[in-house]
Amino acid sequence: MARTTDPPRDLKKNRMQHFASDNYAGICPEALAALIDANNSGHEPSYGEDSWTQQVCDRIRDLFQTDCEVFFVFNGTAANSLALASLCQSYHSVICHELAHVETDECGGPEFFSGGSKLLTATGANGKLTPDAIEAVVTRRADIHYPKPKVVTLTQSTEVGTVYTVEEVRAIAAIAKRRHLTVHMDGARFANAVASLDVHPSEITWRAGVDVLCFGGTKNGLPVGEAVVFFDKALAADFAYRLKQAGQLASKMRFISAPWLGLLDNDVWLRNARHANAMARLMTERLAGLPGVKVLFETQSNAVFAELPQHVALALRNKGWKFYQFIGSGGCRLMCAWDTKRETVEQFTDEIRTLCAA
Ligand SMILES: *Cc1c(COP(=O)(O)O)cnc(C)c1O
Repeated sequence: MARTTDPPRDLKKNRMQHFASDNYAGICPEALAALIDANNSGHEPSYGEDSWTQQVCDRIRDLFQTDCEVFFVFNGTAANSLALASLCQSYHSVICHELAHVETDECGGPEFFSGGSKLLTATGANGKLTPDAIEAVVTRRADIHYPKPKVVTLTQSTEVGTVYTVEEVRAIAAIAKRRHLTVHMDGARFANAVASLDVHPSEITWRAGVDVLCFGGTKNGLPVGEAVVFFDKALAADFAYRLKQAGQLASKMRFISAPWLGLLDNDVWLRNARHANAMARLMTERLAGLPGVKVLFETQSNAVFAELPQHVALALRNKGWKFYQFIGSGGCRLMCAWDTKRETVEQFTDEIRTLCAA
């Protein structure tokens, strides 16, 4: 690890919140309590044979109201890369949006784990693929010299904070079915999408035609870990071996799985997501109309993308605020988390207001 250039600081005193990513936030209390419960339960079988993991798998099946296969991995890159690899031969290809995390932020993981399956990017407004864009990629070539399209992957919610509606997912799944593509969903922020749409989680997944979901937990309040959910159970054949080979089979798996109970009990996952979404909406409301500030996308989940005058962005950084400026399609990305405080948003936007007026 590179040495940080920031001066050392007393972490206890530094209670500042940031908008760089929802993975800057800590563990939510319910997930932490479940983690501690799991630790207090004594010895348990390893490698996912424990009672906690079994229980969480059943809870996820109950949540989606279907008999799906559930696996746990350490992070989203592994979830996406290995899920996609399991859907492809090396000569296949995966259709994704040009801003998709699998394309821009996984260091070639999907290509590596699939042994060469190429990602074929398509464009689309608001970070979303469309049936037409997918159709165009599929029909562009049909010869043996081009990698055969096999999968379409959607990010829900998207990399620019928008959300696919149920109808949009259904329309994409319909074209995928016609073209013999499986449908993968990168749900690193699935909770934020479900909260935003206010639909049953089954409605935007298997009932709409999604075959595999990478169900994000980390950004929703877990310490670590994502679930890979195969709605088409046949596609999960041998997936456990793939995980093991990739170094993703946790021996003490209960410490990845048990915290999910904290999220699933009493719909804490949705409460966390609704809160993060609400803080993003508050951010957008408070930025609207400030001179030189432009919100770039409709705020449908927990991300706000805004163009800020350069001197404003710089001054914010100098005051210690952290946020990204290279993610998505430009602008500053301001991400709200399950624990983002209203006062943090108010303080941040007040500072922007003052800087814009100066
Ligand atoms: C954060 C994120 C992931 C997972 O990233 P990891 O850092 O590997 O956990 C995947 N997809 C999207 C859209 C993300 O935002």
